[in-house]
Amino acid sequence: MNDSASSPSPSLARHTADLIVVGGGAAGLMGAISAARRGHSVIVCEKMKRAGLKLIASGGGRCNLTNTLEIEDFMSRWGRTGRFMHPALRLHDQRAIRALFSSIGVESHAPDGFRVWPKTHDARTVQLAMVEEAERLGVTILCHCEAKKVVTTDGRVSGLETNQGFLEAPGVLIATGGKGYPGLGSTGAGHRLAQAVGHKITPLHPAMQPLFTREPWPARCTAYTLPKVEIRVDLKKARKVCVIGDVIFTKNGIAGPAVMDLAREVTPFLDQFDQVPLLLKLTGGRSEDEWVRMLKSWRSEFRPEISAAKALEREVPPPFAEVFCELTDVSPQARFVDLSGQQRAALAAVLAVTPLTVVGSDGWSRAMVTRGGVRLKDVHPETLESKVVPGLFFAGEVLDLDGPCGGFNLTWAFSSGLLAGQAATNGPDDPLTPVVAHQTVPGDSSQQPGQPTPGDPRSRAPS
Ligand SMILES: Cc1cc2nc3c(=O)[nH]c(=O)nc-3n(C[C@H](O)[C@H](O)[C@H](O)COP(=O)(O)OP(=O)(O)OC[C@H]3O[C@@H](n4cnc5c(N)ncnc54)[C@H](O)[C@@H]3O)c2cc1C
Repeated sequence: MNDSASSPSPSLARHTADLIVVGGGAAGLMGAISAARRGHSVIVCEKMKRAGLKLIASGGGRCNLTNTLEIEDFMSRWGRTGRFMHPALRLHDQRAIRALFSSIGVESHAPDGFRVWPKTHDARTVQLAMVEEAERLGVTILCHCEAKKVVTTDGRVSGLETNQGFLEAPGVLIATGGKGYPGLGSTGAGHRLAQAVGHKITPLHPAMQPLFTREPWPARCTAYTLPKVEIRVDLKKARKVCVIGDVIFTKNGIAGPAVMDLAREVTPFLDQFDQVPLLLKLTGGRSEDEWVRMLKSWRSEFRPEISAAKALEREVPPPFAEVFCELTDVSPQARFVDLSGQQRAALAAVLAVTPLTVVGSDGWSRAMVTRGGVRLKDVHPETLESKVVPGLFFAGEVLDLDGPCGGFNLTWAFSSGLLAGQAATNGPDDPLTPVVAHQTVPGDSSQQPGQPTPGDPRSRAPS
């Protein structure tokens, strides 16, 4: 907190509001809606040309909004820090988030019973509905507006310096996201803003991105996606790290949903070690013993001229058959019936568990999530207010929280935005309540919470 250093320049234009939200992404827009629904004036400062650009790109353009997990289960999937989210989720869990979206014209469904999508399967529906709702509530969204400094007076927040002037408010909500996918706006600015007023930032690592391997063989398998692959990190420190899911092979290594989840665990190790060994079950989880027995039984089933690689193609796609042979120094052209027991045993071992070595990642440019951020210990989980600077709030990915694939990260962004927007504009003794239940439609007191009136912008089905 450096009050003298943070006085606004007198030449700058001044705007005043109850709350300034830094960042018009998932968390920031929810924060703005949350505060504005309760009658407060809000300015959103968004540095890009449009609010919600990352939302539009989310879920491959379809936006995996949330998922159907109950709170305890949801938190347990985040690891050690998951419980920090409890107060936010208790008020705004996946049901509340879906209800809120429904109230602004975004109906959702979970075709696989787990991942929740807008029924339009178009992420623009979500972005547009949030922006329209914020604007309908009178929120000012300043685009091309880049936050430069949180301003404090007498030790508490008094406003924000931006490239468009000084914005004055008793509350500032930092919702600037992480550092990943900088092309969509998040470049770690929120960490710098927070650090400048005394917050600690935990080490930042790109998470959820393709991994590069030392072995070149994945480049030969790019046409294939293998389902239900189990991947373990083969490091003493990380024996418990295990993911299961689809794996895609790329010209530099591996990608796909399982790898996205694994990457958040692996990138911190890459900083400590030059390489991270992995063990993959690529062939449906069949054990080494089962493979030994099966390969033995094949000797009487294949014609003598069938090659080792051709024989393996009975169970694995052609390029993998060749790779498994090469990994065990078996010539792919060798006659299968001529393989020794030792060679079959070696094949069985790599068919059951295949080693791969991670030597790098796609870095920040394609990291969908950031591991690390504003240290949780310095933030009140009940309100998301800073313990360092009163009046400063945080929501979304800027905090030291990162979840796996499957609507986890957006759920946190929405839930934390709703809580922070409310807490930042509440009186100190006002109880925090679910935002959906607070919703009223101006001029219609008979209206059920969340029901749009005819002619209300929320009645329009977003395109
Ligand atoms: C390609 C992609 C797909 C994804 N798909 C999914 C998915 O389907 N489901 C899911 O749960 N998660 C998904 N995620 C993760 C999820 O999108 C993020 O965790 C979530 O958007 C974080 O929300 P946020 O509001 O905290 O940050 P962001 O959405 O990153 O928003 C931060 C905003 O702050 C603005 N900003 C930054 N610095 C400044 C500054 N100095 N001044 C003013 N404004 C600033 C940025 O321009 C941005 O608009 C995806 C991520 C990516 C990159």
